[in-house]
Amino acid sequence: MAQFALVIDLNTCVGCHACATNCKEWNTQAAFGPLSDFDPYGKEPQGVWYNRIMTYEMGEFPNTQVFHLPKSCLHCQDAPCVPVCPTGASYKREQDGIVLVNYDDCIGCKLCSWSCPYGCREFDEADKVMKKCTLCIDRIYDESLPPEHRKPACVLTCPAKARFFGDIEDPNSEVYRVIKERNGFVLFSDAGTNPGNHYLPRTETKVHVDEHLLKHDNPLFLEVLRRHHVGG
Ligand code: SF4
Ligand code: SF4
Ligand code: SF4
Repeated sequence: MAQFALVIDLNTCVGCHACATNCKEWNTQAAFGPLSDFDPYGKEPQGVWYNRIMTYEMGEFPNTQVFHLPKSCLHCQDAPCVPVCPTGASYKREQDGIVLVNYDDCIGCKLCSWSCPYGCREFDEADKVMKKCTLCIDRIYDESLPPEHRKPACVLTCPAKARFFGDIEDPNSEVYRVIKERNGFVLFSDAGTNPGNHYLPRTETKVHVDEHLLKHDNPLFLEVLRRHHVGG
């Protein structure tokens, strides 16, 4: 069975949020309807996003590394969000493995969001239904678009070319090849969800930081000095 999915290269993602922004833009104007926002210019803006970027810092200053993890619905092959849905609103398509929500049948009970181990479902308070990444199903089959544009909005917009899209079960596809060649992995492989989306692991890098390049009034530098030389 075909399984369409995204593959994201954690080496080249620079955390610019272009993919999240373009996803929001596309899905606020297109067939799957507006993603609501509340208090967008106020103190506590909230809204529905299909794609969110998490940024992590590893190590101790000055030998730190930052990496970015974009995360949207992973279109799991054994998606736990589907069987828990009491109305059948959540479903997985046979022909391409895309997991969707039928908004007409969703009663907003949120059981699917409790069952998703990845936190990928978003409840739209305005529409009172559950929403999530559709893999841009309204783009990828749209024959009015030029073939090279029949890809998810997030893939087309990524300036770092960190995102790939295709059928991960097709040995002739680019996504199949990069997963095999570069040890693509899935999130929480022991969760039994068998996600479609994969990530390409970061290759280890060592950065030599010359002390002379550090600003000695940097509070992080002073904190490290205090911990290692003063506080022990
Ligand atoms: S657009 Fe590309 S580089 Fe920017 S955050 Fe998204 S995946 Fe990363
Ligand atoms: S990532 Fe979550 S919402 Fe998406 S298919 Fe898997 S369990 Fe369902
Ligand atoms: S595939 Fe489409 S809906 Fe999913 S994160 Fe990318 S732009 Fe958003």
